[in-house]
Amino acid sequence: MDHLIELDRKHFLHPTSSIQQQQAQGSKLLVESGEGIFLKDRDGKAYIDAMSSLWNVHIGHGREELAGVAEAQMKKLAFSSAFSTFTHEPGILLAEKIASIAPGDLNAVFFTSGGSESNDTAIKLVRHYWKIQGQPNRRKIVGLKRAYHGVAAASTSATGIPEFWEMAGHMMNDFTHAETSYQSTTKEAVASLREKFEAEGPETIAAFIAEPIQGAGGVLIPPDDYFPAIRQLCDEYGVLFIADEVITGFGRTGKMFGLEHSNVVPDVMTFAKGVTSGYIPLGGVVISDSIHEVLQVHSKGTLFHGFTYSGHPTAAAVGLKNIELIEKEGMVENSSEMGDKLLEGFKKIKGDLDIVGDVRAKGLLGAVELVKNPETNESFSKDQAVAPKVIEELHQRGVICRAVTYESSNIICFAPPLIITEQQINALLDKLHDSILSIQKQL
Ligand code: PMP
Repeated sequence: MDHLIELDRKHFLHPTSSIQQQQAQGSKLLVESGEGIFLKDRDGKAYIDAMSSLWNVHIGHGREELAGVAEAQMKKLAFSSAFSTFTHEPGILLAEKIASIAPGDLNAVFFTSGGSESNDTAIKLVRHYWKIQGQPNRRKIVGLKRAYHGVAAASTSATGIPEFWEMAGHMMNDFTHAETSYQSTTKEAVASLREKFEAEGPETIAAFIAEPIQGAGGVLIPPDDYFPAIRQLCDEYGVLFIADEVITGFGRTGKMFGLEHSNVVPDVMTFAKGVTSGYIPLGGVVISDSIHEVLQVHSKGTLFHGFTYSGHPTAAAVGLKNIELIEKEGMVENSSEMGDKLLEGFKKIKGDLDIVGDVRAKGLLGAVELVKNPETNESFSKDQAVAPKVIEELHQRGVICRAVTYESSNIICFAPPLIITEQQINALLDKLHDSILSIQKQL
């Protein structure tokens, strides 16, 4: 093992990683630089970053404009508080910008440093909202199975992937999960949620939380009529709807925000990742005018919730510039157009090969499922680890993507930078075809 990898092994605890594997084999990829859709390792080998790293590098790697803005802001005012009555221009301008692009009457922004903090904030805010209106029993949060909302206390609990809460005993009280629309109809999924609301008692439910497309759960795209029906159900029971747009925000799905595909406006929306394209940590929560009004009227005294870096000036300046580039360079439209090409290519691969099941994409958020029998949708056995083997083949061919394998799924996820070109999509698809074919032959 070389020096850096040895130091990594001794001292660097990696997020969402196997500590045993790191000890035994060392970290596999030491990334040194990035440009456009590519990452480069220490030996100069280039990889297509087909996941935009962690679904977040929307504008691609190496944009000097963002570095320039960060440098200028750091020289002028790197940091200053936004607590209490302090404020600053970058924070004000970014809040105004987000309000202007967010759907409907989502107009007031609370900043955080990432998605987990945003979802924890949203959950605390909706409980506070009910409490100050004399309904302190409305505390429960209903989420979806296979949802991912982060790893802070409340966001872990809202997550519907048990592995994330099992490590530390149990999740917090007052969280429960309904069936997703994955492999079922809107009618069935809505019926499951209605049942959940009824079983828990609607007068005890603060909010329902969902991602417009479940990302880490395996890019699960609901039917078009799902969110309108969910919005209606929440209204029927007086339950607030929190949309987690951490992955789907800022053009990822071919619209500025994922819920725009169904014209649904949530009461609360959380964001992170694409707001700065990952160049600097930033996230936030946007609330509707009516929630804002309730807070103005009933929230007496101090709102005891705030992170040191809520509205970090340098992060805000980078976010503003990043959104400007997304808009100016037509990246949302590119995401939509290239997403269509990606899906077409997935369908062609499905037609050519024997182990491809469902393929799907909305904008540049897509997935390819690998199954033993595409006609019957029969899964591979767990020990076959087909998706991880395909990921390894892709890696060797210079593509980085992610496998989702829990339960019996073998899903390969794709979320390339929004600047990807048709030629680059085709190169990615060729490598995907060859990688799946290579594993298919070995089965
Ligand atoms: N929500 C969603 C939908 C996510 O995908 C993620 C991260 N992948 C989070 C929340 C948590 O964000 P963070 O890792 O920035 O805390």
